[in-house]
This record gives sequence, structure tokens and C-alpha cells, in this order.
Amino acid sequence: MRNAQDPNCLFCKIVKGEIPSKIVYEDEKCVAFHDIDPQAPTHFLVIPKVHIGSCGEIDGSNSLVVSRCFEVISKVTREMGVTDFRVVSNCGAQAGQSVPHLHFHVLAGRDMTWPPG
Ligand code: 5GP
Ligand code: ZN
Repeated sequence: MRNAQDPNCLFCKIVKGEIPSKIVYEDEKCVAFHDIDPQAPTHFLVIPKVHIGSCGEIDGSNSLVVSRCFEVISKVTREMGVTDFRVVSNCGAQAGQSVPHLHFHVLAGRDMTWPPG
């Protein structure tokens, strides 16, 4: 299977439990966990369990898990009682991506500015 897991990837290690994280939700396809360096009062990440490098690697073979990630975002925010939030996915170093495993930041609990920096 393409895109299983990358043994050297930080978030694949979180998926496998090799690196501890504060998990807020997990199912067979996705994990949500608190960001280690929160940029808002609520800041968690939603990731697919399979290794996809970034938004730039989404195609017809792996996009179902992306819609699952958004179901998780909706479910977790609803259960947290969070109604106003921002979803961000940095793709590539110039856009600020530091971990090359697809992830969606979910930020809430403070006023947000636009455009982002
Ligand atoms: P990026 O910079 O790629 O958009 O986002 C990566 C995010 O992962 C950052 O917000 C960073 O704080 C977070 N992060 C990096 N290493 C760890 C870790 O070991 N555990 C957790 N929970 N978050 C991490
Ligand atoms: Zn990975």
C-alpha cells in the first residue's frame, strides 16, 4: 500500500505511540492531539494515520481520509463547545510547514487576524 507509514516521520511516531502526545480523538483512520506549542487557547492537530506528506500529495487514491479529517474537526470542536475556529494546513517550508506529514491545525479561543502572516 502506498503511503503507509514513514519510520522517520515524527507524526507517524505519534500515530504508533512511540512519541507521547495528548490525544483528544482517535479512530482507525485519524488522530487528533494537542499541539505541543499552542498558538491559541485551543490548538490541536488532526492527522491521517497514513503518511501523506502535505496537501500537495492529496489525490484520488488518498482523499477519503482528508474528508474524514474534516469530519473529526467538526466532531471534536462540537464536543468541545467550540463554534468559532480556524483550520490551517501549511504546505511546504515557505508556507511554514515544519513537519512533513499532512496535518490540519485547529485554532480557537482568541480573535484571529486576516490575512495570516
Ligand atoms: P507545521 O509547522 O508543520 O505547520 O505544524 C507542525 C506543528 O506540530 C507545530 O505547530 C508544532 O508545534 C507541532 N509539533 C511539533 N512537534 C510536536 C510534538 O512532538 N508533539 C506535538 N503534540 N506537536 C508537535
Ligand atoms: Zn508520517
